Amino acid sequence: MTHNSHLIDNFGRKHDYLRISLTERCNLRCFYCMPEEGIEKRDKANFMTSEEVIGIAKTFVKMGIKKIRLTGGEPLIKKDIAHLLLELGKLPVELTITTNAVLVDRFINTFKLAGIKSVNVSLDSLDEKSFNNISRRSYFNKIKANIDLLLQHNFHLKLNVVVIKDLNEHEIPAFIEWSNAKNIHIRFIEFMPFDGNNWNWDKKVSFKEMLSIATSHFGTSQIEKIKDKENDTTRSYRLKGALGTFGIISSVTNPFCDTCNRIRLTADGKIKNCLFSQTETDLLTNYRKERNLEPLIREAILLKKEKHGGAKVLDDDFAKLRTNRSMIAIGG
Ligand code: SAM
Ligand code: SF4
Repeated sequence: MTHNSHLIDNFGRKHDYLRISLTERCNLRCFYCMPEEGIEKRDKANFMTSEEVIGIAKTFVKMGIKKIRLTGGEPLIKKDIAHLLLELGKLPVELTITTNAVLVDRFINTFKLAGIKSVNVSLDSLDEKSFNNISRRSYFNKIKANIDLLLQHNFHLKLNVVVIKDLNEHEIPAFIEWSNAKNIHIRFIEFMPFDGNNWNWDKKVSFKEMLSIATSHFGTSQIEKIKDKENDTTRSYRLKGALGTFGIISSVTNPFCDTCNRIRLTADGKIKNCLFSQTETDLLTNYRKERNLEPLIREAILLKKEKHGGAKVLDDDFAKLRTNRSMIAIGG
């Protein structure tokens, strides 16, 4: 492949990881992701069909994408999801998915047939009542059973936990204990500002605070640092002798912008070149007009800002003054 065919931005970052949001809808209502009043329901025609997702993904693969993650909303509620997984599974990429796991039991075999080896599941509390409060639905036991099912079937399992002040920070040790007993990779995520989620600096638990909760509970000598992979947004650790690991994603206090290799495609077919970008590039309309997407994709990458979509810091002003999509409409 020539240098030119890679997706390289103005800061020398090579983009080989595409995150595709399949839907803005979800069977949960996590308060930090979905505004309380819900999001505006738009006509189906605004969103990519499964065939369009496959077509657009193929263009990206031609341009050097090596890994595709499906997300949303909840990707498993997409109509035709089994077919879509199987078709994307045929492309020469590593295929992965981020899901709330409510429907995972229906798709275990499809995951295997599509060659999915690694699954990210989101679960913010180990307490049924607290989780159901956060997600405003009652699927805690279903999700726990499906996590066990993924482990039984030997999927590499990462568990996303958004940590929010006075809500679940006290559960950090219990999650780490879980990674001691099971081959599970817990990732604590700093709460990020998006439209409609009432973010403010006081509700955030920083990377430093999370690590200090872990070390004061288990003792510094019991926690080992694991070497992080290039482009990894997680700083990883392990309890000595543990089967699994835990890590912290400091998207707010220390964003990993300098090694960012991601491109996001929203469910309505737009490139968002950063979670916080203010510009979008409409691929779907152009795909429907049978135009060549390659120059548009290249241009979107060149528009990518150095950090945080161009904002200097993520602070209360950022959350108040900038408009962005809510997380559910971006695709996590
Ligand atoms: N529905 C799937 C799920 O929950 O795993 C996939 C989509 S969800 C938007 C992807 C990830 O984004 C989840 O792990 C969720 O916890 C995370 N997320 C959503 N809103 C967030 C926020 N405000 N700050 C940090 N992470 C957030
Ligand atoms: Fe749905 Fe995932 Fe958002 Fe929760 S975090 S509302 S499960 S899309």
